[in-house]
Amino acid sequence: MDFNFTPEDEKFRAEFRAWLDQNRPEREDDDLDFFAEDEGEWNRRVKWFKKLASGGWTCVDWPKEYGGRGFGILRTIVYHQELARVRAPLPFIGSGVSLIGPTLMHWGTEEQKKRYIPKVLTGEEIWCQGYSEPGSGSDLASLQTRAVEDGDDFVVNGQKVWTSNAQFSDWIFLLVRTDPAAPKHKGISYLLVDMRSPGITVRPLVQMTGARGFNEVFFEDVRVPKKNIVGNLNQGWQVALTTLMFERNGAGGGTGGQVHELVKLAQKVERNGRKAWDDAGVRQRVAEFYCEQQALKYTGFRQLTRRLKGLPPGPEGSIMKLCGTELNLRIQMFAMELLGAYSQVEHHAPYAIDKGNWLFKMLAARGGTIAAGTNQIQHNIIGERVLGLPKG
Ligand SMILES: Cc1cc2nc3c(=O)[nH]c(=O)nc-3n(C[C@H](O)[C@H](O)[C@H](O)COP(=O)(O)OP(=O)(O)OC[C@H]3O[C@@H](n4cnc5c(N)ncnc54)[C@H](O)[C@@H]3O)c2cc1C
Repeated sequence: MDFNFTPEDEKFRAEFRAWLDQNRPEREDDDLDFFAEDEGEWNRRVKWFKKLASGGWTCVDWPKEYGGRGFGILRTIVYHQELARVRAPLPFIGSGVSLIGPTLMHWGTEEQKKRYIPKVLTGEEIWCQGYSEPGSGSDLASLQTRAVEDGDDFVVNGQKVWTSNAQFSDWIFLLVRTDPAAPKHKGISYLLVDMRSPGITVRPLVQMTGARGFNEVFFEDVRVPKKNIVGNLNQGWQVALTTLMFERNGAGGGTGGQVHELVKLAQKVERNGRKAWDDAGVRQRVAEFYCEQQALKYTGFRQLTRRLKGLPPGPEGSIMKLCGTELNLRIQMFAMELLGAYSQVEHHAPYAIDKGNWLFKMLAARGGTIAAGTNQIQHNIIGERVLGLPKG
């Protein structure tokens, strides 16, 4: 394994760093959650995305024919490292860049590619993902939202839930049942739906953190032109799996920064009349987190090596999703122990240590263990498909 970047990648780093020095984000990102805390924070992320777009710095790993820069994996890593260095917000908003853009590249008609992809790149149109329903999450193929053909349109009735950022979205990619008589995976279609269509109601859900990132989305006789189907009628499950593959590849993000923040916290707060950091038990716990985080980092490198060799993705994706999100949760819980009574002081409240960010992150951390396939499902995948254990 070679840990160094090539001279060309380092040259690119200098070029992008120079652009970032001229175009810094409005303020450093607190890296609190995948959801924006409020509308102001959402608008700040959109503004940053559009600034990146103005320099051609969005979707850098997309092929050039779709407006990207055609970057390989290593150069994309350098790009993310440089964004992290200036603590910029993540370079995507909604589900356009990471999910619908790449899905349309695989499955879209030429007309769909031309119509939708350029506006994802510039941030002009924001997308959300309409998969989960009140009775269908892990068992997604049991979904019940119905679409019935009527002339040149489908007519959609039903409900989606946990739809991230639907209240800010212009479009939704939607899984609907088009053949209720077929086996469940074979009666689903994949539609692109304008969120301004008559008959759509979006109702935000308030999370434990106080943020409103999720929504319920109701569809009542919503007319969707037939040309908005992706793939063939009743072929939606295959299209949906392509989107899920992109989603799971990106799940289970880094916890490296969190361990360093934890060290700073332990050096700041007191325990039994001394700095918490002076307590060998505290240092021991932080060291354990650090070791786990390093193990994850090298697991990520192993995955990277596979991809650079052109091999198909290995089990590392599921392992990183499972271990990364659980490590994050344990780190946040330990921060609560260190903060003691201060852990109860609300986000942004006077006297809150570190602006109360730790409490917010602890409350948000559980979501990571559920999103993009719950951790119990990841256990099943690792047990059955990686370790070859019998089905339970
Ligand atoms: C942060 C976040 C963002 C999300 N964004 C979106 C979005 O934008 N669009 C969207 O469509 N959805 C979104 N979701 C929803 C997400 O996909 C579902 O919550 C997830 O798939 C689980 O489904 P469920 O909530 O219905 O739980 P269920 O599937 O009902 O599961 C309930 C519990 O049972 C367990 N369980 C279920 N089946 C099994 C099994 N076979 N073996 C073992 N245990 C099992 C689960 O692990 C879980 O603990 C989001 C969720 C989160 C947390």
